[in-house]
Amino acid sequence: MTDTDHVTVRFWGVRGSIACPGPETAQFGGNTSCIEVLCGDGRIILDAGTGIRPLGNSFERGAPVDADLLLSHTHLDHIVGMPFFGPAYAEGSSLRMWAGHLQPAHTLEEILCAIMVAPLFPVPMGVMSAAKTFNDFRAGDTFSLSCGAEVRTCPLNHPNGATGYRIEYDGHSICYITDTEHVEGSHDENILTLIDGADVFIYDTTYTEAEYPAHRGWGHSTWEEGAALAEIAQVGTYVPFHHDPSHDDDIMAGIERAAQDRYKDTIVAREGLTLTL
Ligand SMILES: [Zn+2]
Ligand SMILES: [Zn+2]
Repeated sequence: MTDTDHVTVRFWGVRGSIACPGPETAQFGGNTSCIEVLCGDGRIILDAGTGIRPLGNSFERGAPVDADLLLSHTHLDHIVGMPFFGPAYAEGSSLRMWAGHLQPAHTLEEILCAIMVAPLFPVPMGVMSAAKTFNDFRAGDTFSLSCGAEVRTCPLNHPNGATGYRIEYDGHSICYITDTEHVEGSHDENILTLIDGADVFIYDTTYTEAEYPAHRGWGHSTWEEGAALAEIAQVGTYVPFHHDPSHDDDIMAGIERAAQDRYKDTIVAREGLTLTL
């Protein structure tokens, strides 16, 4: 049974920088960025961090996938799971991949293929049976996906660039804003415009405000800045995301309580979290 007018958002990887599995991160999870957005029959995947492996494993063995893969950018933590996405090797699969930060110096095909090259990886990307398209656009562009979703984008403040996304489907809206650094004393107008009134606002909250000064220029933001943006843009649910690998479950639980005090409708991203709109 399919539900054509519902959107489901499922979190498969919520960490930034590097995977950090272990007992101290078991509750929130140790996989890097990967979110599945189901729009009726359509499937969108946000980033291909290590979380895309369990996403792929949720498919029946050998079953094909038909999906649009929207990449925030191509730092390793957001693409390293790609070679381990099982359904990409299944006959009949179709993957449409998108990135907005590479032109004109690079193409998405060039960069994704570059991690599947000997001696970094034993087989090239061509071994994947999926029909693949590589779509380079410019952050700020708007486009439509075959599932009927409309996608708006904006450039983010991150070394080598990154793209923020707003996905609209059947009156629902999800914003995926990672990786990005705020400018102290002001709010990012590009982001505020993109997330205005969104149902779900996922934001790079790698650091706390107290940790931030030691990481200025690293391209990441704080949960406090995310809460301020959520408040101004009046979003439905604020979802802190891209957790620092050094933040264990106790730290994350503390961040969630503090963030909920600042913006009531806050749920910190954790593996297995599913939001239905
Ligand atoms: Zn990252
Ligand atoms: Zn990055």
